[in-house]
Amino acid sequence: MAGKQYDVAIIGAGIIGLSTAMHLLEKHPDLKVAVIEKDEHEATQQSGHNSGVIHSGIYYKPGSLKAAFCVEGRASMTRFCEENEIPVWTCGKLIMATREEELPRLDALMERGTANQVEGLRIVDPEEIKEIEPHVKSIRALHAPKTGIVDYRLVAAAYADRVRARGGDIHFNSELKSVKRLNGVTVLETKSGEYEAKNVVNCAGLHSDLVAEMMGADPGVRIIPFRGEYYTLQKDKEHMVKGLIYPVPDPAFPFLGVHLTQTMKGWVEAGPNAVLATKREGYRKRDFSARDFVRTITYPGFWKMSVREWKTGLWEMNRSFRKSVFLKSLQELVPELKSEDLATGGSGVRAQAVTRDGTLLDDFAIKQVDGAVHVLNAPSPGATSSLVIGRHIAELAEEGFSLN
Ligand SMILES: Cc1cc2nc3c(=O)[nH]c(=O)nc-3n(C[C@H](O)[C@H](O)[C@H](O)COP(=O)(O)OP(=O)(O)OC[C@H]3O[C@@H](n4cnc5c(N)ncnc54)[C@H](O)[C@@H]3O)c2cc1C
Repeated sequence: MAGKQYDVAIIGAGIIGLSTAMHLLEKHPDLKVAVIEKDEHEATQQSGHNSGVIHSGIYYKPGSLKAAFCVEGRASMTRFCEENEIPVWTCGKLIMATREEELPRLDALMERGTANQVEGLRIVDPEEIKEIEPHVKSIRALHAPKTGIVDYRLVAAAYADRVRARGGDIHFNSELKSVKRLNGVTVLETKSGEYEAKNVVNCAGLHSDLVAEMMGADPGVRIIPFRGEYYTLQKDKEHMVKGLIYPVPDPAFPFLGVHLTQTMKGWVEAGPNAVLATKREGYRKRDFSARDFVRTITYPGFWKMSVREWKTGLWEMNRSFRKSVFLKSLQELVPELKSEDLATGGSGVRAQAVTRDGTLLDDFAIKQVDGAVHVLNAPSPGATSSLVIGRHIAELAEEGFSLN
């Protein structure tokens, strides 16, 4: 028996898949759209395990998708939350130089942020830094007053409500297992049965390369999972962090360095670090998947990356296993912090695309192939940018799927 039929099926009910469905239905109310998700509700993976920061667009190369989408995304995300009564707080952020040698990198960030037209961005001196964050130590900092925080699980739930309200279906517990093409229609075999779709959008996050391959497309990259681990601050120490406190990041990596963040979840977080995970959804240190691990180590790009970055990799592992090393990174920002102020927190796993030559892809990567769109790299600031990315994918789909 033929499965339920759709015009567009979107794989993955993360914040990007749901935003895409929402935008498609907004522009095309008669379109039959389904979101197909393996887990039992939305935002179970990256979208529900992140720092909750609404980034303002400082770090990204001018002219990149990240720069354009994040700057517009910050404004649209803040507005969306306000309009939909999702608690949001524009608490502002400091990126702090703590040593003389970091100053040129801080100035370079100021230049980037200015080129990206980040609102209100400016350099602040130690006196003003103390007024913003009394417990930090810094010789110069960048202040981004428009950076905010939100719980992205609530944002994803609001997107899901809108998808349903506009007539879209969301099928949970429906892991995509295989894909067939029959008479111009894609048949998606999932754990909950078969669905047919004229076109497919792959927003499968940590599994996006596998889903692309299942659909017969060459993703050109492989997803390497990097776990980010957090500590939380004890309640009586939360006063040490007023907003968002970040270090100057290492420009060789797409990760921002461990930071201290207020959250809308009711606690203050420290982290995340960035350690290689041996399972795509490996949230705990002991999580291991032979299939995922073999896939990582048989990829030439992994070895090329490892040869170049083995020192950083080992250092991150050391910091992951030794609280004292993690604490030391945090004390660079807030010297008063002590080991007993930190309790073990949660974690998230980043879907980082790596090319065959071992490059960690920096920009968002969205590829259109044979009647399908594949989102192959959507790490941070993907949640901040989700309204803009979803609109962008919907536009690609309109053109590529001839929806107009
Ligand atoms: C530690 C960490 C911190 C971060 N901090 C921030 C931040 O502060 N601000 C920010 O803007 N961004 C942040 N990000 C990035 C942000 O979370 C991501 O960019 C965003 O969540 C990506 O959304 P997504 O929908 O692409 O992926 P996901 O949320 O991972 O969704 C993909 C979905 O696809 C489903 N799926 C996979 N395979 C299948 C299959 N075969 N069949 C059916 N379903 C499938 C998964 O179950 C999942 O629900 C952070 C990420 C991490 C990991």
